[in-house]
Amino acid sequence: MTGRVDLVGGGPGPADLMTVRAMRLIAQAEVLVMDRLGPGHEILDMLGPDVEIIDVGKHPGHHPVPQEEINRILVDRAAAGRRVVRLKGGDPFVFGRGGEEVLVCRTAGIPVTVTPAPSSATAVPQAADIPVTQRGIASAFHVVNGQAPITASTLAAMADETVTTVVLMGVGALGGIVAAARAHGVPDDRPMAFVESGHTPDQRTTRTSLGAALQDAAAVMLRNPAVILIGDVTRAGLLLPVAQVAGPAVA
Ligand code: SAH
Repeated sequence: MTGRVDLVGGGPGPADLMTVRAMRLIAQAEVLVMDRLGPGHEILDMLGPDVEIIDVGKHPGHHPVPQEEINRILVDRAAAGRRVVRLKGGDPFVFGRGGEEVLVCRTAGIPVTVTPAPSSATAVPQAADIPVTQRGIASAFHVVNGQAPITASTLAAMADETVTTVVLMGVGALGGIVAAARAHGVPDDRPMAFVESGHTPDQRTTRTSLGAALQDAAAVMLRNPAVILIGDVTRAGLLLPVAQVAGPAVA
């Protein structure tokens, strides 16, 4: 019996942003348990015909499979002696409930490994030319789940000009985030950006400010998956040579 579970980070979308180790584990999988985000069809093409594919990102009612059910699938398949790859979007330990899945496997006596990957928290801004840190502009970044209650540390991050705030799962909560920031005294001209579907053909970047964020989100019909960024690193042209930002002096 060689049953095991490998939690594998799939990165933000394209298969070639996964690690070599991730590729090797996927190629060895007998069962692949996959999510809605992260690499999709490119991965399926890598699998043999006998691999059992379980899509827990959606089912007929479009509701995701409950976590308890995912846990049961992982443990049951591995206990039956199969090599299970649990492929997750981004990094398994960033809002992916990866820690819970590790604990569940260990509690059941199942060997489990974790393979990290680029997280959307940094890789999606990068795709839009937004470095989450930049010397002289931002010396820290604060990553937060937009669905969770807004804490004092998030308010402090949004108010601090030297910090980039990175909000995942924040589209539905944008109104609350903006209202909380303004009530906390964050100025309306604080730069913001929305990056939707980063590293995919549907990628779209909207640059805005705290004061204009809700109007602009409505105007572009901001949609999931998106990373919401607050901070000076989101200014347009940050990584362009000055001449290109200003435009040629003589046309
Ligand atoms: N473990 C994942 C995050 C899971 S939470 C990681 O490390 O990336 C899911 C959230 O990630 C989405 O709501 C969205 O905010 C963000 N996300 C994931 N992939 C994305 C992509 N390609 N483009 C924009 N946002 C993405």
